[in-house]
Amino acid sequence: MQEGIEKFNFEHFHQVFTLLGRCTEDYLFVYDLQQDLYTISEAAVERFSLSESTFYQATDRLQAVCYPDDWQMLQENIQGIIDGTVYEHNMEYRWLSSSGHPIWISCRGQIILDDNGKAKYMVGRITELGRRNIIDNVTGLYREPRLWSDLSKIAKEPEKHGYLLQVGIDNFKEINDKYGKAYGDDILLTIADCVRVCVNDEGSIYRMDGDEMLVVMEKPSASEVDPARKLYHRIRQKVDESISKSGYQHFYTISGGSVYFDGQTDIDEDFIKQAEFALHQAKIKGKNTYVKYNKEEYELFVKRLDMQERLRQAVEDNFRGFELYYQPIVNIEKHKILGAEALLRWQDEVFGRVSPAEFIPLLEESGLIIPVGRWIMKTAMKQCQKWQKEDPDFRVNINLSFIQLKKSDVIKDIDGYMDELHLSSRNILFEVTESGELEEGNMTKKILQSFQKRNLNLAIDDFGTGYSNFRYVKEMMFHLVKIDQSFIRNITQSQYDYMVVKQFTELAHSLNLQVCYEGVETVEELQCVLELHPDYIQGYYFAKPVPAQEFEENYLCKIQGF
Ligand code: C2E
Ligand code: MG
Ligand code: MG
Repeated sequence: MQEGIEKFNFEHFHQVFTLLGRCTEDYLFVYDLQQDLYTISEAAVERFSLSESTFYQATDRLQAVCYPDDWQMLQENIQGIIDGTVYEHNMEYRWLSSSGHPIWISCRGQIILDDNGKAKYMVGRITELGRRNIIDNVTGLYREPRLWSDLSKIAKEPEKHGYLLQVGIDNFKEINDKYGKAYGDDILLTIADCVRVCVNDEGSIYRMDGDEMLVVMEKPSASEVDPARKLYHRIRQKVDESISKSGYQHFYTISGGSVYFDGQTDIDEDFIKQAEFALHQAKIKGKNTYVKYNKEEYELFVKRLDMQERLRQAVEDNFRGFELYYQPIVNIEKHKILGAEALLRWQDEVFGRVSPAEFIPLLEESGLIIPVGRWIMKTAMKQCQKWQKEDPDFRVNINLSFIQLKKSDVIKDIDGYMDELHLSSRNILFEVTESGELEEGNMTKKILQSFQKRNLNLAIDDFGTGYSNFRYVKEMMFHLVKIDQSFIRNITQSQYDYMVVKQFTELAHSLNLQVCYEGVETVEELQCVLELHPDYIQGYYFAKPVPAQEFEENYLCKIQGF
C-alpha cells in the first residue's frame, strides 16, 4: 500500500468532524470521491462562495468555488486520485471568498481506499495562507485578515451599532527615515500600548498598513455624542504622557478618523475606506487632530478621483474634449486688439463642461498638466502662427502652471515648438500666476531668468492675490503685470481698490513694466480704469473667451472702438 493511504472505519465520523472543526482556524473536509459528496467545516460557508457545508455534485461545486485559473490543476489532481495514478493531494491555489475575490489556500488531503483498493475518501484540511500570520510581531495587535473575519460577523447582526476609529502617526515616514526602522517600531509599540490602555478590552484593535491602527468599538456608551472623538483624545493624552515620561527625546503626534455604523450600514471594503478617508482629512487639516467621516466630503473626494480618471483617459485618447478658447486683449493706446489669451476648456461625456477652476487643479495634482501643457503650447503657437500672417504683431498669451516650470523642461519644449513653427519670441507671452512657491523656489527663479535670456516675454498673472512683492517681479524679469480681476470687480465702489490699482500701476510703470487689467465688464468700469492708464485691458466688456474660429471671424484685425 502507498504511504499516506490507510483504511479507516467511518462510524460516528460526522460528529467528531464537526467538533474538531470548531477547534481550529483551519477548515476540515471529507470528500467522498465515489459518491461525489463533500463535507467541510461550517465556518467555510461564511468565508467562501459555498451555500452549505455538505453537498452532492461536489465536482461542480468545487469548480464554482475554485478561482477559474486554478481549476484545471485541481481537477487533474482529483481525477488522478480517482484513477489511482496520483496518491497525494497537497496544493496551494485559490478559492473565491463569499464576496467573490480570490483567497490563497493551502489544501492537504489523505486518501482512504475501499475494500477493492479504489480511492473512496479524501480527508484533510484547508488553511488560509494569509491567516497564518494572525498577530503583528511589532505591536502584538491583530493583523488585517482578522479584522475582515471579525467585521463579517458584526455585519450580520441586525442590531449592530458602533464605530471604527483609525489612528495614524503623523509624519511616520520621516520619523523612520530620520531615526531608523527600529526606532519607528518602538514608537508603533508605544502607541499600540496607549491605544490598548484606552480601549481597555471594550473594543478590538488591529494593525493596518504602515503606521495605522484601527479600533472597532461595538455598542459604545449611549450618553456620548461622539465617543470616537473622546477615545481619540484619550489616546492622544496617553501618547503625550509617554512622550513626556521619555523626557521629550523625540516628539510625535497622532491623527484620528472615525466612521459610525448601525443596523442599516453595509460593512464592506468601502466602509473601511471611509475611516481611512476621515483620517486622511485629519492629516490634510494640519495633523494632530480628529475628523469624523462626512459623506458630502467623501463624495466630493470620490468625484475628484473620478474626474481625474476621466482627464487621464481624455489625455490618453489624444486630448479628447480639450479645446482652446481665445479672449482678446486690447491695446489701449493703439485702440486695437493686441492679441489673445489662450484659455483651456474641457468637455467630458460624463461630467459635461467643467470649469477650468475645477479641472486645472486636478491636472496639476496628477501631473497631467505636463502633457496637457505641451498640447496647449503647441496648439496656441500653431494658432498664433496662422493669425500672425494676417496681423504680424499678433501675440498669444499662454498660461504656464507652476508644476510645468518645476517638473518639466519647459524651456526645451518652448524652444522646440518655436523653432518648428518659425515663431518669433515677440509673438508669444507666457503668463505665470503669482504664488508663494514662485517667490520661494530658487529653481523656479532660475527657470524664469532663463526665459529672459532667451528674450521670451513673461507676465505675472492674478497680481495682488498672492505676495504682491514688486522686488521679485523686477528680479524675475517680468514684462507685464496682470492685475487680478478681484480688484476691478469693485473698483467703481471701493476707493480702497481704486487706490490699490492706481498704486500698483504707477509702481509697475516706474519699474518699466507694462500693466494689463483683467475682468473689466461694464462701461462704468472701463471709464473708471481708463483714468489709471493701463497699457492693456482684458474683459467681458470687450469680449468673452471664444473658440478659435469665432475669434477669427469677430476679432482678428478688427479695430476696437471705445
Ligand atoms: P487667468 O489666467 O487669470 O484667466 C483669466 C480668467 O478670467 C479666465 O477664466 C477668463 O475667462 C476670466 N475673465 C476674463 N475676463 C473676465 C471678465 O470680464 N469677467 C469675469 N468674471 N471673468 C473674466 P477661465 O477661462 O475660467 O480660467 C480660469 C483660470 O484657469 C485662468 O485664470 C488660469 O489660471 C487657468 N487656466 C485657464 N486656461 C489655462 C491653461 O491653458 N493653462 C493653465 N496652466 N491654466 C489655465
Ligand atoms: Mg492668465
Ligand atoms: Mg488672471
